[in-house]
Amino acid sequence: MYSIINSLPKAEHHIHLVGSIRPETLLWVADESGLGSQWDSVDEVRDFFKFNDFPHFLKVFGTCMAYITKESMFERIAYETLEDQASQNVLHSEIIFSAPQRMKNADMDFALMMDALNRGIGKAQREFGVTCSTRVDLIRDYGPDYQMEVLDQIQEHPEGVVGIEIGGSEHAYPPAQFKPVYDRARGMGLRLVAHAGEALGWESVVDAVECLGVERIGHGLTAQQSPDAIALLKKRGVTVETCPVSNVRTGVCNDIKDHPVRKYYDQGVSISVNSDDPTLFGTDMNNEYMTLHEAHGFTIAELFDISLNSIRTSFLPEEKKRIQIAEFWDRYEKIGELME
Ligand SMILES: [Zn+2]
Repeated sequence: MYSIINSLPKAEHHIHLVGSIRPETLLWVADESGLGSQWDSVDEVRDFFKFNDFPHFLKVFGTCMAYITKESMFERIAYETLEDQASQNVLHSEIIFSAPQRMKNADMDFALMMDALNRGIGKAQREFGVTCSTRVDLIRDYGPDYQMEVLDQIQEHPEGVVGIEIGGSEHAYPPAQFKPVYDRARGMGLRLVAHAGEALGWESVVDAVECLGVERIGHGLTAQQSPDAIALLKKRGVTVETCPVSNVRTGVCNDIKDHPVRKYYDQGVSISVNSDDPTLFGTDMNNEYMTLHEAHGFTIAELFDISLNSIRTSFLPEEKKRIQIAEFWDRYEKIGELME
């Protein structure tokens, strides 16, 4: 089963760049940072990745981020992320890039960060034949004024950026206040996403759809609490970027069996399956698909259906999307021949 899942062509909508850093690379980043590394070995980094709860996870993520002190470091991180994706036949990835965090906390330059990121992505695309787009996390906690400044930067250096989103503290910063930011981003031709329904109830999902007009929702776990929220997602054709293993690891979902991914799929909600922060959560796309198979009885045909939906609802330009969809079918048919 694992080898079939590995061969399945896959697409991912929701993977944080820094949450996919290899332990070896974090050690390198920490050594090069000039801040003095807190680890002496890769094993120590692996131990550091073991967290107890959601606040602890955020602290771990923040520490990884803080060691990135040079814009150029993003080149290696991006390249390796796509190398890891390609090794699992993830043919298209949409990376979430928290550039504003480094602009605000380390005075790093947006254009230099994007250049480094694009170099890493470009090299990986050429070598592994995969595709990748980037969406910038504007981070709720920084507020609309600062986010407008980030949009200025994106306007000046648009290369590689396909969309925006808001991560960060869902409790403290409800969606409505970000409406002007989203309206402007829409006008700039950017695609719109928001993390919602991870730390807060279904209202947060409804607000993100109605106030911000998002096309996709990151997590959307709590939409299951309300039939109205589910109906709205279906009516608007909003895709839920589910992150099953992440939700269990951070404790927002008690047990994988309670995760609504099966319910959403059966109810006809558009979904994708994603690893969120693979190295920090000890997961990857193969493990997500395997988990869906084992805990929720998803068949290979259903997993391929999710794969296809992920590529269809990706932010790739139409021409590239058509090529990828043909490639997905081609590979799937070959797997079918092997299975017969
Ligand atoms: Zn996320």
